[in-house]
Amino acid sequence: MNQQQLQPIFILPEGSQRTTGKDAQRNNIAAAKAVAETVRTTLGPKGMDKMLVDSLGDVIVTNDGVTILKEMQVEHPAAKMIVEVAKTQEAEVGDGTTTVVVLAGEFLKNAERLLDDNIHPTVIAKGYRMAEEKAQLVLKNIAENITEKDTEILKNIAMTAMTGKGAENSKELLAKLCVSAVKQVMENGYIDNNDIKVEKKVGEGVENSELILGIVLDKERVHNAMPRIVKNAKIALLDAALEIKNPETDTKVQISDPSQLQAFLDQEEKILKKMVEKVVNSGANVVVCQKGIDDLVQHFLAKNNIYAVRRVKKSDMDRLARATNGKVVNNINDLGKDDIGNAGIVEAVKINEEEMTYIRECKNAKAVTLLLRGSTQHVVDETERAVMDALGGISTSLKDGKVVAGAAAAEVEVARNLRIYANSLMGKEQLAVLAYADAIEIIPRTLAENAGLDPVDLLTDLKSKHEVKGGKWQGVDVFNGKVIDAWKAGIVEPLKIKTQAIKSATEVAEMILRIDDVIAATGESKRQRGMPPNMEGMM
Ligand code: ADP
Ligand code: MG
Repeated sequence: MNQQQLQPIFILPEGSQRTTGKDAQRNNIAAAKAVAETVRTTLGPKGMDKMLVDSLGDVIVTNDGVTILKEMQVEHPAAKMIVEVAKTQEAEVGDGTTTVVVLAGEFLKNAERLLDDNIHPTVIAKGYRMAEEKAQLVLKNIAENITEKDTEILKNIAMTAMTGKGAENSKELLAKLCVSAVKQVMENGYIDNNDIKVEKKVGEGVENSELILGIVLDKERVHNAMPRIVKNAKIALLDAALEIKNPETDTKVQISDPSQLQAFLDQEEKILKKMVEKVVNSGANVVVCQKGIDDLVQHFLAKNNIYAVRRVKKSDMDRLARATNGKVVNNINDLGKDDIGNAGIVEAVKINEEEMTYIRECKNAKAVTLLLRGSTQHVVDETERAVMDALGGISTSLKDGKVVAGAAAAEVEVARNLRIYANSLMGKEQLAVLAYADAIEIIPRTLAENAGLDPVDLLTDLKSKHEVKGGKWQGVDVFNGKVIDAWKAGIVEPLKIKTQAIKSATEVAEMILRIDDVIAATGESKRQRGMPPNMEGMM
């Protein structure tokens, strides 16, 4: 016998963990399913909330899929891939994060069934890919068109996005504010959600939330002698300090007698006064400064009846430029009349003992503020998440011009069409497409389950109503436990939520299915490679 064969061969560093073949696959699928199972109970208007407590004891109560997953600090690599998908959904569409995770989990669960029947993962992956392509086509065909003139539908989109997200009682008002906000900042069909500033302030109730045609800054006037309110405001937007720069390196000024000191101070004062003069000459009666403002400058500005705030964030400066139609100037010497922005009113407003600056009544504002109120921090935080979903839904729908009915109507219609498609296929791919169609029905089943309804009865009813002509928008009425026309009931969602969710969920399921080998370095072996221990978290 050959001596060499008896020697075990190590190709990996000591301490690495390796799982291969079926074990690796099952382990990954189990992890993905576990993630899906966690968020599943939050899906839909009757979904429950989760309370998350972080290591510092801070509490978040939420119903939002991606927020839950981010806070959970998932460790398993396959589970992390699922979390990434939720984040992509959030970034691309702004809503549908629970849906995408639940779908991915179900795709994998049904794939497992096929694996049990000895169908090769690559065949399943191929069938899933074919099913996904077909599903995309079906979705595009059934979608309805909308434009910015369809205010009622846009409001419905906002309300659907906010359903079950805490802000329930003021949904109408918030939906109206969101639609107005998006329409206001929309320019030639282009919408940048950064132009909508969402500012939260604890106090009063959600129903006191308002849309401000301008920008609200969490900043007070720099000097008490400045006016509290400026009408017909002419605003200078400065990205330059109104103070004398501290020397970068240690500089010594040698002074040999007191008169020199006085001359030095006089010189400083002269420079600062010059700055104030520039502001005054530009015609501005309000200064919004991204950097600091010297005490002396504050004093002189106040004397000139000019309202000033300092250390304003860059993002707010950019929004202010768009709201007031002014320009951010980064050298005070360049400040001219053309750079000045306009607002009907600039006002110091006290909320909870804190002074804020409202810059409002801007004509043709291309950036606005949604000021959200609520009785506690938890309420305003959850209202903010609901509003973000609503804003995402409205702008996605307008960009795409296409929407579908929610309440699982679109999903049931897709599943129905996939079954017809499967009939035209042969062999194992047919099984994969059928498994995919079943998986999509996890959405109506979960909506029903979360509402305490019997999923089997409801799904049977729902499917038979989809067979009838004109039944494509039949969906789950989670409040009355029946089947309803979701479109007529005003349950409307952007098409993109569905197409993106199906695309990413299929992709991640496929990717996980194709893995048959997991090689994990342990913390130990990383250290052996000479990495300082505190670097590990950064890998
Ligand atoms: P996601 O994070 O995926 O957006 P949600 O908890 O927001 O999860 O739930 C979204 C699901 O709830 C979608 O399938 C949507 O169609 C459905 N839905 C929203 N409003 C209603 C409603 N009034 N009746 C029934 N289903 C609804
Ligand atoms: Mg949602």
